[in-house]
Amino acid sequence: MTADSQIRQTDDTSLGPLREVVRRVWGHPDLRPMQAAAMQAVRGRRDSLVVLPTGGGKSLCFQAPALLTDGIAVIVSPLIALMKDQVDALTTLGVPAAFLNSSLSLEARREVRRGVAERRYRLLYVAPERLITDHRLHDLLDAAGLSYVAVDEAHCISQWGHDFRPEYRQLGSLRQRFPNVSFHAFTATATEQVRADVVAQLGLRDPELLVGSVDRPNLVYRVRYKDRIRAQIRDVLERHPDEAGIIYCLSRREVERLASWLHDEGWRAVPYHAGLEDEERRAHQEAFRDERVDVVVATVAFGMGIDRSNVRFVVHVGAPRSLEHYQQESGRAGRDGLEAECLLLYTPGDFAFWQRLLEQEEGWTESYASQLRGMVAYASQTRCRHQAIAMHFGQRLDYEDGCGACDWCLGELEMIDGATVVAQKILSCVARLEQRWGIGQTIDVLRGRDTEKVRQQRHDRLSTHGLLADVPVAELRGYIEQLVDRGFLRQSGERYPVLKLTQDSMPVLKGEIDVDLFRQRRPEKRRTARRQVPTESWEGVDRELFDALREWRREVAIERGVPPYVIFHDTVLRALARDRPTDRGAMLEIPGIGEKKAADLGPDVLRRIASFRGPEG
Ligand code: ADP
Ligand code: ZN
Repeated sequence: MTADSQIRQTDDTSLGPLREVVRRVWGHPDLRPMQAAAMQAVRGRRDSLVVLPTGGGKSLCFQAPALLTDGIAVIVSPLIALMKDQVDALTTLGVPAAFLNSSLSLEARREVRRGVAERRYRLLYVAPERLITDHRLHDLLDAAGLSYVAVDEAHCISQWGHDFRPEYRQLGSLRQRFPNVSFHAFTATATEQVRADVVAQLGLRDPELLVGSVDRPNLVYRVRYKDRIRAQIRDVLERHPDEAGIIYCLSRREVERLASWLHDEGWRAVPYHAGLEDEERRAHQEAFRDERVDVVVATVAFGMGIDRSNVRFVVHVGAPRSLEHYQQESGRAGRDGLEAECLLLYTPGDFAFWQRLLEQEEGWTESYASQLRGMVAYASQTRCRHQAIAMHFGQRLDYEDGCGACDWCLGELEMIDGATVVAQKILSCVARLEQRWGIGQTIDVLRGRDTEKVRQQRHDRLSTHGLLADVPVAELRGYIEQLVDRGFLRQSGERYPVLKLTQDSMPVLKGEIDVDLFRQRRPEKRRTARRQVPTESWEGVDRELFDALREWRREVAIERGVPPYVIFHDTVLRALARDRPTDRGAMLEIPGIGEKKAADLGPDVLRRIASFRGPEG
């Protein structure tokens, strides 16, 4: 036997028990390839850094090996609000686990320590500051046999990440305290800089680097100019009745405004931002998690603590400050792997807003500027959005015929004919208006409108009046914003921004360079064969049964005092409503139902399904 085949054989045997445990406990028929590699690193006590997008299945990587290892595994997580849910989820699966953080009473903490000493747990979740400073805990872990340390959300250690937590910095010191234990870092943030920083700060030793694809194929990405915010939001909401979504805004005021409007319109929506009382914020977060509320209108303050896996849409009213932020925030959609959509509504003004804000921030650097440019590029580019995000993170997707899940590939946008001439007309109108007017007036003049302001200013006498009379307003606005995005025009002034020419305007006016412009495809031309949102996952699913099971899930969740997703994910409910199992064996066939849940919840579910009558009664 060669050395090579020997190695392969050991690998196989170490995967076998992992597969078995994942099947039995979690009910997943198999490991994803990255998960297998990540778990092998844990089993082999080899330090590792695992980069997988949200929904990529990171938790399983550090949870499953704990069931095959003696002693106790420690999971470091900054998400204090989520620890309890994660431990509840593990307990529901029959995995003994506990957590230690500041939310526990002294008595409860003492009880957990006792549990550690008595080797009752396989996994212990700990907040970073506690793990660093609590020396008694270190001794307890020594005695109980610390098997490995997993650091979740590891990008928090890097100031290049989008969520730097200074207390994460000191985690490296644990390395010295536990020299014989392997450390495993997990994050969804894929930039090279963050990666290198995590390795250095944590003191990872010759780590196995496992970087998965950043792509989230189940997300449909769209970008639109924000011109009719409410109608644009209503469009999305109407595609998702009774489903969960997040609407991100740039300001608290906008959050309040939209939330109360939605509420008045009859949607189950609540606001969330740092200006609310702690009590109210917590209440809104819990209402969303427990499915008593469908829509959260929020500033970026909302998110880290949210683990509702069935978020079906994320709308950004205003562009975030970097594509990393966008990926992170929009990525909260579709964590369960089912289809979801992400809509970015923006204007070039958003970038001016960020620029002003970031310039005031300490250490305004080229790095902020380039992060912002990455976001501008994503918003204004004219190609596949999935590809654009992947390229930003240094990856390339091999979609042959488009991704089928973004506005470009779905054919919702199209390049227009004669774009250069349209651009010339717009630019010369700005020149005729002496670079003293904003987008609104420019549009009115180009469309040849006869408003009071047009007459008063004698703009109806300009040669450019009515030059683009047959272009719909929204389209024309889009063209002007595209010209701003690409630097052929700029906006100047804070309160009433006016359009100005730039050094790049002249070559366009002189016809020395060509310009591309795109617009939303007009309805009559829109390709109908393409799906708006992929819906294969609904195939064969009895929707009414699905809804009934959701209701059942909510009841059980309340009864047990856990969030609904801890009971079953939507994927499982859909499978149940598709396959309608009639006995325990058939139920265990369903991915995502392990032995403990089948025993615990199975009889109740089977009864529900049996007693459910279809739509015909
Ligand atoms: P992350 O922490 O990377 O965001 P999660 O651990 O929350 O991802 O997993 C995302 C989803 O994928 C969950 O619904 C989980 O049940 C599911 N999942 C994880 N691993 C598997 C697997 N091997 N097979 C099927 N589903 C899986
Ligand atoms: Zn695409």
